Amino acid sequence: MYDVYAVREDFPVLKEVVYLDSTATTQTPIPAVEAMVEYFYRYAGNHGRGAHRLAREATNRYEDARETVASFLDAEPSKTVFMKNTTEGINLIANSYPWEAGDHIITTLLEHHSNLLPWLRLQKKGVKVTVISPDSEGKIDISSIEEAFTEKTRLVAITQVSNVFGSIQDVKKVTRLAHRNGIKTLIDGAQSAGHMPVSLKDLDCDFFATAGHKGLLGPQGTGVLYIKEPDVLDSASVGGGTISDIEGCTYVLEPSPACFEAGTPNIPGVIALGKAVEYVKKIGVSEIESHEIKLSTETAKRLSELEHVEVYGPDDRAGIVPFNVKGLHAHDVALILDQTRKICVRSGHHCAIPIVRFLKVDSTVRASFALYNTEEEVDILVNAVAGLKALVS
Ligand code: PLP
Repeated sequence: MYDVYAVREDFPVLKEVVYLDSTATTQTPIPAVEAMVEYFYRYAGNHGRGAHRLAREATNRYEDARETVASFLDAEPSKTVFMKNTTEGINLIANSYPWEAGDHIITTLLEHHSNLLPWLRLQKKGVKVTVISPDSEGKIDISSIEEAFTEKTRLVAITQVSNVFGSIQDVKKVTRLAHRNGIKTLIDGAQSAGHMPVSLKDLDCDFFATAGHKGLLGPQGTGVLYIKEPDVLDSASVGGGTISDIEGCTYVLEPSPACFEAGTPNIPGVIALGKAVEYVKKIGVSEIESHEIKLSTETAKRLSELEHVEVYGPDDRAGIVPFNVKGLHAHDVALILDQTRKICVRSGHHCAIPIVRFLKVDSTVRASFALYNTEEEVDILVNAVAGLKALVS
């Protein structure tokens, strides 16, 4: 197991706060931040658009980052596309796939709005959408997905880890079942990549969208989209960098990934993401997974022993612990934890209103863990939440 205290030295802000909001966004390690600074100081140039040395270096480093990220996810670089976040990746699929009126998409009530709204919007084009409910702990019964299959089903879009419950779905099994019926799958990996081993070869999904700024420890404004068969899609955005030729009114798209990365990308962000992924790889994603699960399991157990606290989600959770303090609004809890103990947790509907309403509440508090959190921080959180009893009794 790695030395979490040594790791914390690479995240200076952790000396200032108890940071338990890594599901929203993680902190970025010093080597990745330095890579961005180095880009601006030494070789800020555009990608794929110039013969001079700065443009060449920027292009090479950007493409090195693609190799690093693709290898980490066990995918081919040519199918690994850089986006600005998970949301953009999912929208790209929704907007580029050749849907026909009557096509059917299955998704779930667990989804973040980013993996729900792009499909619901397709209803305007005559696409039908079925939304499958989970059980009370946030797990989807895979047979209910299978029961929803019709002749017209084209896609199952499902999250690997719920950002609301921390529950983990067997997306490999979903993909196997879907493929047996000629149906494609899109996996929302925003809360899985970097938090657990992910092999896209093994999952065999058709599309996988994730963030650079969550488990992969990169900066905001970075995301990754894997497309197994790029030729199925018509690029949703076209412009600079996306075509190899144009004659009159006819143009020829570049092959993937260039055809999907229209305009100047987030070059420093992607280069930093590559460094951040190297960092995660060096520590070991299985070790990170065990560490986060240990902390979240301990937190959930101790919080549920408090009479004034309700904890949500299954026992076999990822590093995410949602809860409420009875008699206090989630936002008040989050504000008190910050103001009294500098504890940063998320509160609200987590951009997943349908599933939070399913819990019959309008918001929850969410503590979430990353590789840099410690047992002492679990103590600080649990003791602070225990202390809130005085406010509600
Ligand atoms: N999907 C899930 C499961 C998430 O947790 C999030 C963000 O929290 C998203 C999608 C959206 O991610 P992004 O902000 O990178 O677009």
